[in-house]
Amino acid sequence: MPNLPEIKKEIDKFRQEIDYHNYKYYVEDNPVLSDAEYDRLMRRLSALEEEYPQFITPDSPTQRVGAKPAKEFASVRHLTPMLSLANAFDNEELLAFDKRVKKILELVENKDCEYVAELKIDGLAVNLNYTRGVLTQASTRGDGLEGEDITNNVRTIKSIPLKLRKPGQEDLPQVIEIRGEVYLDHKEFARINEEREKQDGPVFANPRNAAAGSVRQLDPAVTASRKLNIFVYGVGAVTGKKFETHWETLQYLKSVGIKVNEVKKLCRNIGEAIAFCHEWDKQKKKLPYEADGIVVKVNEIVRQNMLGQVSRSPRWAIAYKFAPEQAVTRITDIIVGVGRTGALTPVAVMEPVEVSGVTVTHATLHNEDEVRRKDVRVGDTVVVQRAGEVIPEVVRVLTEKRTGREKEFIMPKKCPVCGSDVFRAEDEAVARCTGIACPAQVKERIIHFASRNAMDIEGLGQAWVDIMVDKKLLADPADIYYLEKDKLLDLERMGEKSAANLIAAISESKSRNLSRLIYALGIRHVGEHIAEVLTEHFLSLEELSKAGQEELEKIQEIGPAIAASIVIFFKQDETKTVLSKLNRSGVKLKQERKPKGKQTLAGKTFVLTGGLESVTRDEASRMIKDRGGRVTASVTKKTDFVVVGTDPGSKYDQAKKLNVKTLNETEFKKLIGEKS
Ligand SMILES: [Zn+2]
Repeated sequence: MPNLPEIKKEIDKFRQEIDYHNYKYYVEDNPVLSDAEYDRLMRRLSALEEEYPQFITPDSPTQRVGAKPAKEFASVRHLTPMLSLANAFDNEELLAFDKRVKKILELVENKDCEYVAELKIDGLAVNLNYTRGVLTQASTRGDGLEGEDITNNVRTIKSIPLKLRKPGQEDLPQVIEIRGEVYLDHKEFARINEEREKQDGPVFANPRNAAAGSVRQLDPAVTASRKLNIFVYGVGAVTGKKFETHWETLQYLKSVGIKVNEVKKLCRNIGEAIAFCHEWDKQKKKLPYEADGIVVKVNEIVRQNMLGQVSRSPRWAIAYKFAPEQAVTRITDIIVGVGRTGALTPVAVMEPVEVSGVTVTHATLHNEDEVRRKDVRVGDTVVVQRAGEVIPEVVRVLTEKRTGREKEFIMPKKCPVCGSDVFRAEDEAVARCTGIACPAQVKERIIHFASRNAMDIEGLGQAWVDIMVDKKLLADPADIYYLEKDKLLDLERMGEKSAANLIAAISESKSRNLSRLIYALGIRHVGEHIAEVLTEHFLSLEELSKAGQEELEKIQEIGPAIAASIVIFFKQDETKTVLSKLNRSGVKLKQERKPKGKQTLAGKTFVLTGGLESVTRDEASRMIKDRGGRVTASVTKKTDFVVVGTDPGSKYDQAKKLNVKTLNETEFKKLIGEKS
């Protein structure tokens, strides 16, 4: 018989030891053990826990990556709101802040107010909830009141203790909300982007997006694979502990074993805080992570409470933003990138230049109009700026440096990725690729195709589309109908049952209405409503694909931009290929003519006004149309019926004036119901 109490003691001893070394390594950045020795400890603990699973507890260091991938994040209400800070961009604004603070606190102007100045980390704000010292919940900031439950992902971040350390003799607070910023350092950010580039995925624009994207992974294993880190900067609700000052709060957080940034200063007055801001504006390049400013907070908690908040910003704190760094370089080329939604973005290729410690070679020009507005040409000498973004932007051209050999940029007529025609509506700044199978946008297009209001294929969401496109099972939306169960079962985490369900859902979607299919194709400007309008005029995709600009424009609600977008879409070879694949797979590309005999309202014209109780306006319209009636927008003498709901508008008055028959909801339903 094993001696269970002894084994439990041994497990506890291992855990304490590992927690200690975790703290030394991830929080203090001062490891005592070699990696190999640390691994050995972990392995021995794992082995013991495996043998005696009754002793596994959620705060064991072996339990960081335990949970299975989630379908979605639950929402969580913060005990106290997470406020957002007002910004200051120069000395005057900091001085004005100090003046406001003193006025509310009724301090004489020449009397000092104490502030704490802290580095503002550019990451993702999180709330950590510790109950009696154990991490029980973690959430994103969200709208400040409610965020997303990211507990399982946050547990994988090694610098966040699953269990707080006891600060001396004192007990840990019953509940404490600890607020901080999850971030990625420059090195890890570069590594993640390199990896994504290798896999042809889109790179993250900046470390903040990368941190947010990593924390908001449905699969905690992905989060765990990225070296996320945290700095905490304050508390929310606390029971069982009181703080006098913010400075004391920070010391306390450090003492319970969680990471507090060392770049901070207790300032006797705003002058010292301003000096600190400028000092770090100069030194920020040395930091191994991205910081975008300095937060200045009133130190005394009593004063903070007196100051309170205005809308969702505290009146006792302000964020001083560092000035973005600029540099001068020359543009050697302007290329065009294609985004996930098909948007074509001109990008300047430049002679390498260093901006805030990073060598940059590309700058975004946003869109064609921006290129014209700034008059950026190939060969130009330009000022570029980087504000925490990986891809900097061109601020302005130094026209005095022109030689006359600069070349103007011309937007390509064909997509540089797939060769399909480029479409830009007159009133839009963005030009887009029209290719339904364009590799740059195929994931988004397939996700849209399968979405609920389109072909409604249950189980085919973003996560699976990502995987299936990466594994080359899908290259265009029509490929969905050629998926085979065997191939699906080869995918990691695809079980027998899910595969069968997915195949069934796909098969079921083949008979969706024509309007849903038209919407699913993702033609620019053709939303659900326009798709329905189109099905009132065309009985099949084939008919629609043959319609010309003029014919389309004759239809009410179809303007020149929509018509042009439809025509160019059906002209593409890719579209033709996809449509014939859909056809061969048995997807219904037609609609049956409405059966005659039930056209009880044929020739009758209706106008709807006010809200109906039992049906929506759209449903009521459809009921009328299904029976051969017409629904128009305004009441004329030719109107047969005006259906009047609650709070009717002027149409009701008009009906009375013109003596048109009105129907209340009951009468309307009787008319529809009796004769249908
Ligand atoms: Zn394309």
